[in-house]
Amino acid sequence: MSSSNLQISGLGKRYGDFVALAPTHLDVARGEFLTLLGPSGSGKTTLLSLIAGLAQPDEGRVLIDGADVTYGAPYERDIGMVFQNYALFPHMSIEENIAFPLKMRKVPAAEARRRALEALEMVRLPHVAARLPRELSGGQQQRIALARCMVYRPAIILMDEPLGALDKKLRDQMQLEIKRIHRELGTTIVYVTHDQEEAMTMSDRICLMNGGAIEQLGSPADLYFRPRTLFVADFLGESNLLQAEVTSVDGDTLSVKLAHQGVTGQALSNGAPIKAGQKVTVMLRPQNLRVSTAGPGLTGKLLDVMVTGSLTKLYLDSGVPDAAPIVVAYPTQRQAEQYAIGQALTVSWQAADAVAIAE
Ligand code: ATP
Repeated sequence: MSSSNLQISGLGKRYGDFVALAPTHLDVARGEFLTLLGPSGSGKTTLLSLIAGLAQPDEGRVLIDGADVTYGAPYERDIGMVFQNYALFPHMSIEENIAFPLKMRKVPAAEARRRALEALEMVRLPHVAARLPRELSGGQQQRIALARCMVYRPAIILMDEPLGALDKKLRDQMQLEIKRIHRELGTTIVYVTHDQEEAMTMSDRICLMNGGAIEQLGSPADLYFRPRTLFVADFLGESNLLQAEVTSVDGDTLSVKLAHQGVTGQALSNGAPIKAGQKVTVMLRPQNLRVSTAGPGLTGKLLDVMVTGSLTKLYLDSGVPDAAPIVVAYPTQRQAEQYAIGQALTVSWQAADAVAIAE
């Protein structure tokens, strides 16, 4: 038997002529935390709805533990769902809300009560059992929604922007909570967000979607450091994207000549086939760049320094018409303090940190 818990095979969905999801293949391993990430309208919710059975596909299949559930009703799938709006029953106590899925499954009342209280412990809210939903904060209600979903121990939990309605601080706390619960239960989670930081911190793998198709599927590090396309490089975190030409190819290592000041250097290939003479975009992450007052390399005038809390960013004008400023990021303010606005600086990097994106 395969170790994949969820298999999506050629799954596609159209609304009239509009392709909301092009035929898509995806295998999710048991216990995996997989995030569907992408801009608005990229097809994340469509894919999640097809997995949940809330919508029917035009083609393809959904298999859970090898069983074809493509046209089965939502309740026939061993799946739990958590949405942005918690959808708790307003007139039921918290304990009754959580026990509800068990009641539907005909679990005896005493057993349902025990498991509801256990789920409340799991989300660290054992003291709210007797309250009504409106007596809880948004973050607490979202925990209850999570407890109600976990209580019947579905094989797969689907979450659609579950933290979308919460403020930043609460989101951060809840991200940790969800990760902890995921570790403790070992449930497979398919999580939808359009927040790339959330996807990076929480996921085993990210499935980055664009225009109803998978743009790239891999670990957060894969997507961040080895983007297959410019869309991925641009969507995930900040990057310097510089035009270049490949002058020679040695396996995965490429020699490139940047359009910026004709600077030459090396870059790693992103895995796409590539030949000398081809145009590529070289991606350099700001935190992999360093500046100095002398030496060979790309030069630029310091335009601005911004302290963003966790990072200090230096913006340099490379003198290339229409090119975006080069961004260099340091983890502390110390390095930046020694430079003056307008000063000419040299930017350098390690060859292994430059990735050539060929499309
Ligand atoms: P968001 O982050 O905004 O929720 P998403 O990535 O989840 O976006 P989907 O909700 O899957 O995107 O929608 C994908 C595309 O399909 C969108 O262009 C949307 O307008 C379209 N779409 C979704 N549902 C329907 C529908 N019932 N009828 C027509 N078009 C639809």
